[in-house]
Amino acid sequence: MIVILKSNPDRDQLERLILWLQERGIIIHTSIGKSHTILGLVGDTSSLDVDLIAALDIVEDVKRIQEPYKKANRKFHPDDTVVKVGDTQVGGGTLTIMAGPCSVESEEQVVEIAKAVKASGATMLRGGAFKPRTSPYSFQGMGAEGLDLLKIARAETGLPIVSELMDISQIPLFEDVDVIQIGARNMQNFNLLKEVGKLNIPVMIKRGMSATYEEWLMSAEYVMASGNQNVILCERGVRTFETYTRNTLDLACIPVLRKLTHLPIIIDPSHATGKAALVPPLAVGAVATGADGLLIEVHNDPPHALCDGPQSLRPEAFDTLAKQMVATHQFMKTIGA
Ligand code: PEP
Ligand code: MN
Repeated sequence: MIVILKSNPDRDQLERLILWLQERGIIIHTSIGKSHTILGLVGDTSSLDVDLIAALDIVEDVKRIQEPYKKANRKFHPDDTVVKVGDTQVGGGTLTIMAGPCSVESEEQVVEIAKAVKASGATMLRGGAFKPRTSPYSFQGMGAEGLDLLKIARAETGLPIVSELMDISQIPLFEDVDVIQIGARNMQNFNLLKEVGKLNIPVMIKRGMSATYEEWLMSAEYVMASGNQNVILCERGVRTFETYTRNTLDLACIPVLRKLTHLPIIIDPSHATGKAALVPPLAVGAVATGADGLLIEVHNDPPHALCDGPQSLRPEAFDTLAKQMVATHQFMKTIGA
């Protein structure tokens, strides 16, 4: 971190700043220029508050030269993280296909969809039991009963289950869930992140709708700093000026995150677009861009779905897409991309 001082800084204030930094184990290299003095801070600056230092009277500017996330940082962990989930994994060259209904609605519904997506090549069943809905009058999910139905579908198909946890109080219900999803709206619920960081269950963190890459990675850092290294990132579109699509899918996040982090990356074109017809081209594009996997909403009766019907693929459309994704994944390997 570099601290640029204003010209002729007050001596007492400067001494106090230097002492304060030294007390935090920081080594300071001072470089005195004609108009400005620069302090080069060496050591673990991750806990320093940039804004606090920048607000001091004697400080002109503060610049970080290293990212504030350490455990999620590719620089300190060059090898890709591979998250083991049951007999399958996320990352490490595997194409993960998470599929299922936005909401679990009944045993028949979730088991039928689970069997269909499994037959098409899905590697995990994803379904919501607790739903974060914009309106309090919309269906809020089946809750604990929904989780039980997901477990029945897991027993029927062997597919590991992925489901969203919305609140710390729900943690005991998720002990037997294979992947815990933290939704976009909870990406910066830091208390929740700390608690799921204490669990021995993989956590998939969806990108907040206006989160920068750094903010998203800092959320991963929260989980990892609490002890849980099995973190998966999921891009689900960000909010822009465009209203034709539900969100705007940021596929550039794949090469960017590959560089910044060792964590696996899942793309969710369903919530990114809100329209079933747009899901297949973006899903294939995500595979071609190097995603570790996809999250696709599938419903056996989209017009009557209790949540997110317009973006849900019918099982037949998902079957075609799954084949295209697998073929694209193979093709990308053959061209060495
Ligand atoms: C979901 O996955 O069903 C969901 C609510 O997604 P998001 O948190 O990305 O909006
Ligand atoms: Mn949904």
